[in-house]
Amino acid sequence: MTMTSVPLQVLPEPALLIGAQRRTDSSGGEYDHVYAATGRRTVTVPVGGPSEIDEAVRAAAAAAPGWRATAPDRRRDLLLELARRIVDHAERLGMLQTVETAVPRRFATRLPQVAADFLTYCAGWADKDAGEVVRTWPAPALDYTLDEPYGVVAVIVPWNAPLPSIAQVLAPALAAGNTVVLKPPPLAPFTALAVAELALDAGIPPGVVNAVATGPEGGAALVGHAGVDKIHFTGSAATGQRVLGAAAANLTPVCLELGGKSAHVIFADADLRMAARQVLAGLVVNSGQMCVSGTRVLVQAAAYDEVLATLTKRLRHVSVGDPLLDATLMGPVISEEACRRILGVVERTVTAGEARLVTGGERLGGELGEGYFLPPTVLADIDHGSDLVQQEVFGPVLSLHRFDTEQDGLRLANATRYGLAAYVHTTDLRRAHRVAAGLVAGTVWVNGFPGVGPAVPFGGTRHSGFGRVGGRAGMREFSRPKNVWVSL
Ligand code: NAD
Repeated sequence: MTMTSVPLQVLPEPALLIGAQRRTDSSGGEYDHVYAATGRRTVTVPVGGPSEIDEAVRAAAAAAPGWRATAPDRRRDLLLELARRIVDHAERLGMLQTVETAVPRRFATRLPQVAADFLTYCAGWADKDAGEVVRTWPAPALDYTLDEPYGVVAVIVPWNAPLPSIAQVLAPALAAGNTVVLKPPPLAPFTALAVAELALDAGIPPGVVNAVATGPEGGAALVGHAGVDKIHFTGSAATGQRVLGAAAANLTPVCLELGGKSAHVIFADADLRMAARQVLAGLVVNSGQMCVSGTRVLVQAAAYDEVLATLTKRLRHVSVGDPLLDATLMGPVISEEACRRILGVVERTVTAGEARLVTGGERLGGELGEGYFLPPTVLADIDHGSDLVQQEVFGPVLSLHRFDTEQDGLRLANATRYGLAAYVHTTDLRRAHRVAAGLVAGTVWVNGFPGVGPAVPFGGTRHSGFGRVGGRAGMREFSRPKNVWVSL
């Protein structure tokens, strides 16, 4: 099989966008972006350094008073216009997702609409959230709150799922009246630039959305910049800890959307075929490189063998390959380094006798040998304390565990340092609610996965972070109430 040639024309001209200026010179050097399905360079992109970060923060600060003073209905209309433009460019943006991170086309085509939905939802709040009147004593007095934007928000995003990751933060931040410095990593620099350019085209004033792709050095410069009023970080727990530490210097408020090790808790009374289908779907989308991937599969003893057999059979037949073909279910992982890291964890676990390798575990060769392709990998009878279970592997690797009672299942589900999401499969309504209440997770999905929509609060607990995107809670992350008391 020859890989479909990469449609480079969908990529924006590589640049940093600071204010209205497209910058191709930068102090952080250059980075050769690689298409993960072939391991070959696509284009070379400029990488921002501390000086471009400083310029971007200044541009965002200069634009902040004007954007804050923009009438809420005008802000609403501008966000709706940006959503419209994203939908108008859906074909190009969907293809761009595939070129950027090699997510298969059949999933990538849906992502522009997901991004547009976040913008549309938050645009609706722009002219509605207005603070509250507070009952006070001693009377007579009038006490009310004003919801005010923070000012400049640093939005640091990871390389995986760039369009949703950006839209779910950009939309509430802008709707609440903040300006933004978007910082994607050089691994995936294109979506942030494309969205920032569309924002300008939509009529959002220069400086309100800036895009500077940088590595860790630029990220650290942004987090430590005294001109940043709020940090929204999406990424790994390890980097999140560094961000939180660095933010302490200026006491900058932080919101952290971190990784997870989410569990599927499958009870014997569940629709087992449906449960297996959902486990599989969650694993193949983006090759397990999703924060909400349910990679710990906990199955009640009576159903364990059936679930293992069904999953293994189906996963062996998943079409892994060319992300640009509509028939492909699973593409490569992001890089050579990710390939080695993921296979290394699997090998160590099996060699230590901590698990039984049921399927997968070896890099795919032949026609896929130049890309970073791994097969879906299943490990059974695994020690729940092993690194593979306790760390986020961020690849197509499932571990299967057996439990007896409801309490055992719940205990096992909560036995990690993470707390992002959990999936429950049962036909017992009372049990569904009991288990949902007992799970330590920001989100629990019961008998289905509707995706992460704009109207629901999404975020983690423990090492999965704090703060929320989506819903009213997501809007509140980006404004702070000022209290006003007036003697009457
Ligand atoms: P990462 O932590 O390596 O990097 C995330 C971002 O932080 C990148 O832009 C990176 O350049 C930047 N960065 C690195 N060092 C920095 C520093 N010292 N200061 C400031 N910024 C710095 O994560 P990744 O590998 O890009 O992404 C994968 C991780 O993101 C996984 O853990 C995944 O679960 C998580 N994730 C979480 C969510 C969520 O909503 N909870 C969504 C997507 C991804």
